Amino acid sequence: MKTRRRTKIVATLGPATATYDSIKEIIVSGVNVCRLNFSHGAHEDVIKLINIIRQIDDELDLHTSILGDLQGPKIRVGEVENNGVALKQGDELKITTSPCVGTSEKVYISYQEMPKDVQAGEMVLMDDGKLQFEVVSTNYKDEVTLKVLHGGVLSSKKGVNLPNTKISQPCLTEKDLKDLDFALEHNLDWIGLSFVRSARDIIELKHIISSRNKHSKVIAKIEKPEAVAELDDIIKVTDAVMVARGDLGVEVPMQDVPLIQKNIVEKCRANAKPVIIATQMMESMIENISPTRAEVTDVANAVMDGADAVMLSGETSVGAHPNEVIKAMCKIILKIEDDYADMYGKDILPEKNQDRFITDSICFDACRLSKRVEAKAIVTMTHSGYTAYKISSQRPKANIFVFSGNKRLLSMLSLVWGVETFYYDKMVSTDHTIADIKYLLRKNGHIKTGELIINTASMPIEDKGNTNMLKLSYID
Ligand code: PGA
Ligand code: MN
Repeated sequence: MKTRRRTKIVATLGPATATYDSIKEIIVSGVNVCRLNFSHGAHEDVIKLINIIRQIDDELDLHTSILGDLQGPKIRVGEVENNGVALKQGDELKITTSPCVGTSEKVYISYQEMPKDVQAGEMVLMDDGKLQFEVVSTNYKDEVTLKVLHGGVLSSKKGVNLPNTKISQPCLTEKDLKDLDFALEHNLDWIGLSFVRSARDIIELKHIISSRNKHSKVIAKIEKPEAVAELDDIIKVTDAVMVARGDLGVEVPMQDVPLIQKNIVEKCRANAKPVIIATQMMESMIENISPTRAEVTDVANAVMDGADAVMLSGETSVGAHPNEVIKAMCKIILKIEDDYADMYGKDILPEKNQDRFITDSICFDACRLSKRVEAKAIVTMTHSGYTAYKISSQRPKANIFVFSGNKRLLSMLSLVWGVETFYYDKMVSTDHTIADIKYLLRKNGHIKTGELIINTASMPIEDKGNTNMLKLSYID
């Protein structure tokens, strides 16, 4: 019987993973979701990656999820001379919105509204917070004067964070709208939105998606203090969440990140919304062949907290050992899932006045029952994915097998904790379908004769209605 991993792995593709062979290798090693970062890479290169992933899926009968990550209102400085200028503490630096090659006195910024949005005294951070500045003055037009609080070398195109500033730019920039068009045209499973500030940003994105009759789901990247403050509202409207620790750790004090991470994971699970922990999980493996002890513990803690997925960025996109990173991550995850019993059986009682009360109750009781009778698997047939999310959020010890005739739905669900997806389109009668699925699971070695399984379904099956029944039976 194969070892089943519950916590999913998201890997960012890039120059280190741009060929059929390298992508196939990491998918075989355990990648569940491929992330395409629209901050880098032209659309014609991204199309090649999408085609490679879908070809591998067809060959290996897998449902790998594809996440298109929109850059959002990411602010950057322009090119600087000699590819790096030294800035000393106490110096003044002018920021201009007119394009120029930067010097140690003046640099270009991509954020045209900055002189109107900032106020004297606000913080400006560059290069992941390595350089710190304070706003001295602004001409409210095209120039801002900063004082260097913490200097260093500023190189070209580095990111800029303005944690105290109320940024007037919309969450979806012109570039994002073009990337979104592309992502929707290619039916990507998940769309990540960077620098989300409020639930409205998510509602707006979802509105665009549904007005194009597309089904892509949305991931809210939490990396701004405003988003942390509006977390409950954001979780309600989004389909999934990413704890984007890279920018988050610059925008809020770094020591705040661990508790924010735990809080987000707990709230997402309680709301049956998948949550990804991102950035620097195995950072040292960009160069090294093995992770640091601290990184091992970071991945382990994310699994213990109950994250749906852990994410790799530079480790797989530009790193020297993408496949070793996936293998190391799998080992850590499997060890924790084997030995840490506390991560399972998180009972979340369904609320009586919800419109999905019947379905929620079936999912809840399927998980409770699976624990009491030690069922091997909970099997669900889903048309919307709803029962898969709900069952997963209870974190049952039993395997979660999801059957659907909708391939896009199956690849979307590959992000979700514990969910294993199977293509099945012969929904005849409930009795027949359950018997057929049990036969298939046993034949393909997912389950053995004599083991107990639980089926959830909607009766009558041909109505494709909400899940309303539960069946417990032995495998013949
Ligand atoms: P990014 O998002 O890699 O797109 O910046 C993740 C993060 O900020 O942690
Ligand atoms: Mn980010």
